[in-house]
Amino acid sequence: MATRIDGKAFADNLCDKLADEVDALKKEHGLQPCIAVVLVGEDPASQVYVRNKVRRCQQLGITSIEHRPSADITQDELMAIIDSLNSDETVHGILVQLPLPDHLDEEAVINAIRADKDVDGFNILNVGLLSVGQNGLVPCTPLGSLMMLKDQLGDLSGLNAVVVGRSNIVGKPMAQLLLQENCTVTIAHSRTKNLPEVCRRADILVAAVGRPRFVQGDWIKPGATVIDVGINRIEEDGKSRLVGDVDYDAASDIAGAITPVPGGVGPMTIACLMYNTVAAAKAASGIE
Ligand code: NDP
Repeated sequence: MATRIDGKAFADNLCDKLADEVDALKKEHGLQPCIAVVLVGEDPASQVYVRNKVRRCQQLGITSIEHRPSADITQDELMAIIDSLNSDETVHGILVQLPLPDHLDEEAVINAIRADKDVDGFNILNVGLLSVGQNGLVPCTPLGSLMMLKDQLGDLSGLNAVVVGRSNIVGKPMAQLLLQENCTVTIAHSRTKNLPEVCRRADILVAAVGRPRFVQGDWIKPGATVIDVGINRIEEDGKSRLVGDVDYDAASDIAGAITPVPGGVGPMTIACLMYNTVAAAKAASGIE
């Protein structure tokens, strides 16, 4: 039976350390880390995500400022909010909850966020820094996934890693991080041929597809470490439940270790947002 990688416990542990660090920053440097969250409109899922992020901030002693413009905000008005947050020196991190309503240019908004405040790591400058292996702010989901992998496996050098999914927010940055760790990385996507065979070569298999239980048990190399990024809501046995992109029960008979859904990558994503916010606050104040 595979080891269950407990992302919630890992995230709680990381957040405990961050809370101590926030405390020390306040006492020793008079620095109060602060994140501004912009939520446009009333999308129920986005509201839940923002609520969870704000709750974590409160637990850690990080200040959170919320901007909640209505869904009919214009591009110029939203840009003006970003501009004001960019120039507010008390704000260290800016997060615009995605997706934005269709009439807004998401890319322009993300790229308007100052790179050193871009705690989601989606700004084109941070994307570039990651691709050339330089320090920047790294997207939270891949960062949290990598932390769990390193904790589980130690040195990742020379391991075969397969990332299924090539989105800008998960698949591509995940692949970049694994490459930096000296893995031999394959990125698979909807046009990949013989996907089960490709997956079977993976010592590390990351699934970021967005399809419930897509990765089958017999796609997994015995002993592999599996990171299931997917969050899919399904109806089963008359109940609504969350499942990942991997068939957990089948995979856990074969894998060496696997993240569950829920309780795996999800909690680490929020913990890494806190991590990035503290890092951005320290960088803004020139603290190592
Ligand atoms: P996207 O829809 O942006 O990307 C999905 C990727 O999967 C695409 O690259 C697509 O390929 C690939 N794909 C789709 N179908 C297949 C297939 N049949 N075979 C192989 N590849 C396929 O999703 P995201 O990356 O944003 O998210 C992926 C999952 O992770 C979702 O379930 C999402 O909810 C979850 N997620 C979880 C987070 C967390 O905190 N745990 C955070 C972010 C996302 P192609 O490019 O060719 O279309």
